[in-house]
Amino acid sequence: MATAVKGADYDVVIVGAGFAGMYMLHKLRGLGQKVRVIEAGDGVGGTWYWNRYPGARCDVESLEYQYAFSDDIQKGWKWSERYSAQPEILRYQNYVADKLDLRKDITFSTRVTSATYNEPNALWTIKTHKVDGSGGDTLQARFCIMATGCLSAARVPDFKGKDDFKGPTYHTGGWPHEGVDFTGLKVGVIGTGSSGVQSIPIIASQADHVTVFQRTANFTLPACNRPLKEEEIARSKEILLENRQQALKAPAGITCFKYNKKLAAEMLPEDLQKELQDRWELGGFAFLGAFGGVMTEKKSNDYAADYARSRMAASIKKPELVEKLLPNDHPIGVKRLCLDTNYLETFNDDHVELIDVRENPIERITEKGIVAGGKEYEVDAIVFATGFDAMTGAITSVDIAGRKGEKLKEKWAAGPRTYLGLGSAGFPNLFFITGPGSPSVLTNMIVSIEQHVDWITDCIARLTKGNIRSIEANRDAEDEWVAHVNEVASMTLYPQANSWYMGANIPGKTQVFMPYPGGLDLYGQKIAEVAGADYAGFELGA
Ligand code: NAP
Repeated sequence: MATAVKGADYDVVIVGAGFAGMYMLHKLRGLGQKVRVIEAGDGVGGTWYWNRYPGARCDVESLEYQYAFSDDIQKGWKWSERYSAQPEILRYQNYVADKLDLRKDITFSTRVTSATYNEPNALWTIKTHKVDGSGGDTLQARFCIMATGCLSAARVPDFKGKDDFKGPTYHTGGWPHEGVDFTGLKVGVIGTGSSGVQSIPIIASQADHVTVFQRTANFTLPACNRPLKEEEIARSKEILLENRQQALKAPAGITCFKYNKKLAAEMLPEDLQKELQDRWELGGFAFLGAFGGVMTEKKSNDYAADYARSRMAASIKKPELVEKLLPNDHPIGVKRLCLDTNYLETFNDDHVELIDVRENPIERITEKGIVAGGKEYEVDAIVFATGFDAMTGAITSVDIAGRKGEKLKEKWAAGPRTYLGLGSAGFPNLFFITGPGSPSVLTNMIVSIEQHVDWITDCIARLTKGNIRSIEANRDAEDEWVAHVNEVASMTLYPQANSWYMGANIPGKTQVFMPYPGGLDLYGQKIAEVAGADYAGFELGA
């Protein structure tokens, strides 16, 4: 059994047992490190443990949304659909946990409340709290790794009277494990992002009446989900490893479609139309790769957006809803696109009602329902599909204090500051997996997770071998990286929407583009160069 560095309980404490924490644990065990994972849920899975709402499904294709680090793992697993539903992904994660015997090093039903860096011995003191309130623990470790996920701090807006409602309320990001049966009920759903778009058709298939409160109409693309064919499953097993190498060289970590490099302006109108139509009918995010410049050039974006609106409109049978359901206030792709299975069609049913809360803002929640635009909508249950304090919320919910007691939350008050999304100056030996400032949510998360976990593992191996006690991002390198992320973002259309990428969904949160939009491929080269130059831009402390 591994023994920890002198004076510590563990070499490494990892916060979170989702895809990132699970793989990080496995890799560090391989280095002979003594590791403990702390997880708030009572099982592994992270996002897929919490988001059990009806219709929850991945928007990256199953054959790419899986670990590629172990041939044994992939050979023993068979995906059933093009886009996996939440229960299947959670089963996969449990299969991996069984296979690698991960659970013995994970403390479940426990939250990390604080992490404090002690300069004299270069150790982190990590305090935990059992979620049932039955106490906690204090651990010392050399390294603390935040594997807390980008979309895990679920958020219900501060609606006036929100505790007055007498019926049950649910947040899509914290759905009851036993499921919810809406049969015969009147349901109010607030929010029409990916979680709303996925859950509303299923809720409407059960409920007597559904009132959807929409603030922003979103672009939805057809998912075209279907069962996988035996031959594509067999082929994917042969090529997974090679495919992952290709994914690491692709801007979004996805290989199932190719980006057309030609700008819209360079294409004949009929070719342009055909490219858009073919990709629309293929389903999924391929649509955004129809031609170059969609995310950087308004004109190219307009072509794609107009086409998407025309196809979306064809699904809406009530003329009075067309304008309301079609997005008109932001370029396509700058808010996360939603993959759609019967979403727009659901509004063709008479028992589904759409309330535009931009026209008629939600004023309050009452004992019986939701008041918007001066009218009370009585409901038996409320579903909040209102999203997350994205990218930073789960990290800053832990009280993290670095050198000289500096608080990470205060340091990040005007937007997250990291070097490469991996570390932050003043916080030695603290790593983020897919942290703000890295490509993360703009990519296939599994590819980004494997990329970061491999990098952190090599880094810890180098420090351990060299008897180096600490690694810390240099402030100048960090400032340069933050400026670079902002500069690249300013060359794109992303800042033109009130999105969670910008922190715009949280009142009072500083608006700054948080993920790195330069592409996973270029980013991968950068972090490899940094490691190759003995962690240039980081200070290594003896
Ligand atoms: P979201 O995209 O942030 O959507 C939240 C929704 O709630 C938006 O429609 C938002 O309106 C609305 N809302 C928030 N505050 C409101 C308020 N005070 N009043 C009225 N409406 C309000 O959250 P999400 O749907 O949970 O998705 C978050 C991300 O998780 C996705 O973008 C995606 O990356 C990921 N996700 C992925 C999948 C998948 O793989 N298929 C599924 C679910 C989620 P505004 O747009 O006006 O802010």
